[in-house]
Amino acid sequence: MKQTIMEQFSISPQVIALGEMAEEKMKPLLKEQEEINEYNHYKVLHAMQQAGLSDAHLLPTTGYGYNDLGRDTIEEIYATIFSGEAGLCRPQIISGTHALAVALFGNLRPGDEILSPVGAPYDTLQGVIGIRPSKGSLREYGISYHQVELLPDGEFDWDGIANGINSRTKLVTIQRSKGYCWRESFSVKKIGELISFVKRLNPQIICMVDNCYGEFVEEIEPGDVGADLTVGSLIKNPGGGIAPIGGYIVGKKEYVENAAFRLTAPGVGMEAGATLGTNLPFLQGLYFAPHVVKSSIKGAVFASLLFSGVDFPVLPKPEEKRADIVQAISFGSAEKLIAFCQGIQSGSPVDSFVKPEPWAMPGYDCQVIMAAGGFIQGSSIELSADGPLKPPYIAYLQGGLSWPYAKLGILKGVQALHAKGLLPL
Ligand SMILES: *Cc1c(COP(=O)(O)O)cnc(C)c1O
Repeated sequence: MKQTIMEQFSISPQVIALGEMAEEKMKPLLKEQEEINEYNHYKVLHAMQQAGLSDAHLLPTTGYGYNDLGRDTIEEIYATIFSGEAGLCRPQIISGTHALAVALFGNLRPGDEILSPVGAPYDTLQGVIGIRPSKGSLREYGISYHQVELLPDGEFDWDGIANGINSRTKLVTIQRSKGYCWRESFSVKKIGELISFVKRLNPQIICMVDNCYGEFVEEIEPGDVGADLTVGSLIKNPGGGIAPIGGYIVGKKEYVENAAFRLTAPGVGMEAGATLGTNLPFLQGLYFAPHVVKSSIKGAVFASLLFSGVDFPVLPKPEEKRADIVQAISFGSAEKLIAFCQGIQSGSPVDSFVKPEPWAMPGYDCQVIMAAGGFIQGSSIELSADGPLKPPYIAYLQGGLSWPYAKLGILKGVQALHAKGLLPL
């Protein structure tokens, strides 16, 4: 039965066998993640109950959106889950990049400096900050930027960070996930150590964490270890694949309000912003998010086992503790990277017949290939694989609305390599 249904998807017996081997090895590796998932599901549920979530909160508002009780309740729930005094979580935040830009522009003024103690930030942030010249960047507003690289072994360069902080340093930005870098993603505990170090040098510095892809992977979030601002996207983990748009900013009330004055207008801030019917999918998505994160991690461990078994470098390794949902696989050639992404796409529920090609995506400095046949455009929590077209041709794989879907997509990726003679089995 299983064989025949897999064969309907044109997956060859050798690839199915490879998958079965990986699946067998995977079982003992997932125990801890199951427990984390259960904990996080209860954390979400408890936050909803505590906020008195009610039927009326699911309704839409229009126009200015004054007194949108659902929106305010969602923001209270987000503040609880991500351990901040206040939250901003809205459909007017169009993406993770936008959420981060709003947090930065809202809290920085001309003459201030940003420090990244973890190397270069995510590609799209480089445009926001002005590391890569771009119109309207923080740099154009007289906000400077300093970066301290990680040490060759991936550890923080404590001396470099201490030396990198000066009287103008207003904000430290810490990216939890690897982004498009071959480095480990940071555990929340490790982020906490970095924040404590910065605060000892100067307690006034705002510590912001880019939490994209990290939500619900661990039992604690950056706000639990001292982050002043935690920022992320709703078309990633916390939207659960159901939120159709959105981003969140949680943290100290003053800093969240500053961000809100930038998102809407000075003097308006958090008071306005109609939700037009997004309250229901925001809440339903959040409710399912820990479960979807678990499916995603299961897929990531599966892919890690499968590809390390056929000698591709993978990060993290199958047995390593996870700090985000991203699985990096180093393919070594453009041809293999493209074949894998095309295979992933062919397993999707939407646009399975489409062949993704590399293109010059806005915000990125080289061509990128992206496979994402999701219900929500670009939603990388569904199942997606993408990679910049530059050596060593790494695919970043993440998401999986359900485990069977993640498994099928990954097997389709393997099948595409196999069919092109790029993976002899
Ligand atoms: C995805 C991502 C972003 C940007 O989010 P978008 O929603 O794609 O704009 C920023 N930082 C990290 C680490 C990400 O993974």
